Amino acid sequence: MTDEKVAAYIKKCLDAGRMAEAIDTSRVTGAPLSKEELDGYIRKYLENGWIQKAIDGAKAAGIELSKDVLSGYVDKYLEKEKIYSAVDASRIIGIPLPKEKIAVIAKECLRKGKIASALEAYKIIKEKPPQEELIICGNICFKDGLLADGLEAYKLANMAPPEDELVICGNVCFNIGQVTPGLDAYKLANKTPTKEILRICGEACLLEKRTDDARKAFVAAQKVEEMIYSRTIVVRELSLEELKKLKIDLSNKGLACLDCENRTNIKERYFEVSRCPETKEDEEELHKIMKSHGVENFYVELDVLGNGRCLINSSICGNCGSNNIVLSSGDEMDYMEIKARKKE
Ligand SMILES: [Zn+2]
Repeated sequence: MTDEKVAAYIKKCLDAGRMAEAIDTSRVTGAPLSKEELDGYIRKYLENGWIQKAIDGAKAAGIELSKDVLSGYVDKYLEKEKIYSAVDASRIIGIPLPKEKIAVIAKECLRKGKIASALEAYKIIKEKPPQEELIICGNICFKDGLLADGLEAYKLANMAPPEDELVICGNVCFNIGQVTPGLDAYKLANKTPTKEILRICGEACLLEKRTDDARKAFVAAQKVEEMIYSRTIVVRELSLEELKKLKIDLSNKGLACLDCENRTNIKERYFEVSRCPETKEDEEELHKIMKSHGVENFYVELDVLGNGRCLINSSICGNCGSNNIVLSSGDEMDYMEIKARKKE
């Protein structure tokens, strides 16, 4: 072995925490390895939470490592919320962990959204995390885009995660290219993400060369677009021939003009609507579309054309030109009136 190779090997051993092996190699090959260097590595092991490796290394190097120094590191681990390292170290050194300190740390972990560390800490002190703290923790996890952690926190709190928090989580996930938890979060919230944010997610995936995830995001965006398109209300005016073909009884409507009380000379127009309006937004949309046809007042007859299509009837008084036409008789329950919303 060349000197460089030996030096590299020794460094590799030291970096991995195998100090005894490094010292042996140095002894056999005569490669230099100073006590200061070894001391530095022991500190590094301790900083990393590698307490056993530090103890073994110190023994091999003939460096004293007092119980005080070691228990000082236990405190340090606790301060840095390295619960696992603290538990490990206390077991190896044989000193109990301070319960009050762990209780404080457990709560702090929850407040930082570190659910795994928090649970570990609560386990040590044999306490259950309080529900309100779990909810705070869950919401922090969601804001960090950590869906699984957030869900776990809510599950332990015995609560269903709120839709709003799930949507926040989903959006964070999409923004950082985490398509699967993003979609899961939206699904749990019973909401649909926008195609824009799904595309942002797809781009983020592409930047990281995760092509499968990118495809998943773009496919989801496409589906949303198709869904929106199918939700669009399309209105088409029907001709007389078409109306005859539809075999809908249009005669006995009993319409009357509210302005001149004319009941006979009323001109009617009929429109086919691609789907029934279901929400207030739908109604407003439909009203806008009808306005573009020059119709202010109209009736919607729900679901009469099949496949969820509706029939719109708009009437104008042949005498005074008013479209203030109402049903004067007949079964009004069949109709849903959408009144012109006059802006005042
Ligand atoms: Zn009239």
